[in-house]
Amino acid sequence: MKYISTRGLSPAKTFTEILLGGLAPDGGLYLPEKYPQVTRAELDAWRNLSYADLAFAVLSKFADDIPAGDLKRIIDKTYTPAVYCNTRAGSNARDITPLRTLEPGLHSLELSNGPTLAFKDMAMQLLGNLFEYVLDKQRDELNILGATSGDTGSSAEYAMRGKRGIRVFMLSPLGKMSHFQTAQMFSLQDPNIFNIAIRGVFDNAQDIVKAVSNDHAFKAKHKIGTVNSINWARVSAQIVYYFKGYFAATKSNDEQVAFSVPSGNFGNICAGHIARMMGLPIGQLILATNENDVLDEFFRTGVYRPRGADHTYHTSSPSMDISKASNFERFIFDLAGRDAAKVRELWSRVEAGSAFDIKGTPYWDALPQFHFASGKSCHADRIKTIRELWEEYGVMIDTHTADGLKVGLEQRRPSLPLICLETAQPAKFEETIREALGREPERPAGLEGIENLPQRVVVMVADVHAVKDFITQHAAG
Ligand SMILES: *Cc1c(COP(=O)(O)O)cnc(C)c1O
Repeated sequence: MKYISTRGLSPAKTFTEILLGGLAPDGGLYLPEKYPQVTRAELDAWRNLSYADLAFAVLSKFADDIPAGDLKRIIDKTYTPAVYCNTRAGSNARDITPLRTLEPGLHSLELSNGPTLAFKDMAMQLLGNLFEYVLDKQRDELNILGATSGDTGSSAEYAMRGKRGIRVFMLSPLGKMSHFQTAQMFSLQDPNIFNIAIRGVFDNAQDIVKAVSNDHAFKAKHKIGTVNSINWARVSAQIVYYFKGYFAATKSNDEQVAFSVPSGNFGNICAGHIARMMGLPIGQLILATNENDVLDEFFRTGVYRPRGADHTYHTSSPSMDISKASNFERFIFDLAGRDAAKVRELWSRVEAGSAFDIKGTPYWDALPQFHFASGKSCHADRIKTIRELWEEYGVMIDTHTADGLKVGLEQRRPSLPLICLETAQPAKFEETIREALGREPERPAGLEGIENLPQRVVVMVADVHAVKDFITQHAAG
C-alpha cells in the first residue's frame, strides 16, 4: 500500500515512512492511493472478532510494511481491557468500545474508556506503541512538541509515557484547563513527560509551537515531531471502531446504520467516511458541530469558510472549538474525484485567508453520494440533551456527546438504527454537568483523588526562546 498526497506533488510513500511525519512536503495530507475494499465474505468473518483481532484485520490492510507478527503484537498490547478499563457501571471493558442501547434503534458507542476518558486515546495509544517500535528499529529518538487546551495533550502524554526514545514537551495555557484535565496531565511523574504551563491563552502556546516548527535547523537538530490529528495512523486506527460499532448494533451485514459524530478537526468522521468507502454499510454519516459551525456550513451551503482563530467561540464543548478543520482536505480530495490540481486550487484560496464555494459545480452534485448530513448545537442544546438523557435513560453524557446526540436525533432517517459516538466521559466537564443536572458527574474508580496527587509542571512566560532553551536542556540527541 502506497500513500499519496492530496496535493499530488509529493512522492508516494509507505505506512512507516509517513508514520512519524505530519504534512506531505507539498503541504497536502496523505491518503492511501486506493482504499482497500472489504468483501462480503470478510465482513461475515469479521462480525464476531474481538476488538484486537478486528483491529488487526482492518489495520493489516493499511500498515502492510510492518511484519504481520509485529503488527499483531503491537495491536494486542494496545487494545486490551487493561488499557480501556475506565468503563462505567454496566459496561464490559472486554468490549474495548462497548455499545449501549438506549432504546431499540438508538445506541451510543463508548469510545472514552481509555486512560484520559476521551476518544483520542483509541488512536493515540496505538500511535505510542507504533512510534516506540519504529524508533527502536531505526535506533532513533523523537521529541514531541505540542500545545493543548485539554484532550489532545493528556491523550498524547498517556500514550507516550515511559516509551523508549520518546519525550513529550506539552504546552498548555496556565489555569485554563479544567481541574480534572490539569490534574490528569500534571500528576504524571514519568521522566520523559514535560508539562510546560504558559502564562497566556491557548493561542500563545500554539504560536510557540508554530515558531519552533518553522525553525527547521532547531527542529532537525532536536528531532522535533508532532502527534496532531492529521497523522494518518491516528485516522486509520479510528476506522476500526466504525466496524466494531456496526457489528454490535446489527444482526446481519445486509443492514445499514447511521453514525452521528461530534466533530472539530474532521478526524473522527473522516475515519467513518473511509470505512464507508471500504464497503461498510453506512447509510448516513451525521456531522455535528457546536457554535463553531464551519463544517456544518459547508454541508448545508457548499461554502467552506474557515474563520480566524480570533473568531473561534469558547464553548462548553471545548474540544470542538476549531476555526478550520485540519482533516477536511482529505474528504474534499475524494469529493473532487481525487483531482489533486483541484485541491491545490481550493486550498490556495483557504491559505490566503479566503473561502471556497462548490455550489453549482459537479462537486456539489456529487455530495449526496457520500451520505453526509449535518447540524449544529449550542450551549442550551447541550444542557437540554444532557438532562433528557439523564431523565429518560439514567445515562450521563458529556457535552461533546450531547452535541452529537442532539444533531443525530434531528438528522437521522427513521429507517436507520443510529449509533452516536461517545467521545468523552462527563467527569472531564464537571461544570456543565453541575449546571445541567445539579450534581457531580460520575468518575471511574481510581480517579477519585486525582486532584490531590503531587503535580509536575514548569511555568513559563509566553516566550519562544525560553521554551527552546528548556527543550535544549532536556532533549538529548
Ligand atoms: C477531539 C475531540 C472531538 C473532535 O474530534 P475531531 O476528530 O477533531 O473531529 C470531539 N469530542 C471530543 C471529546 C474530542 O476530544
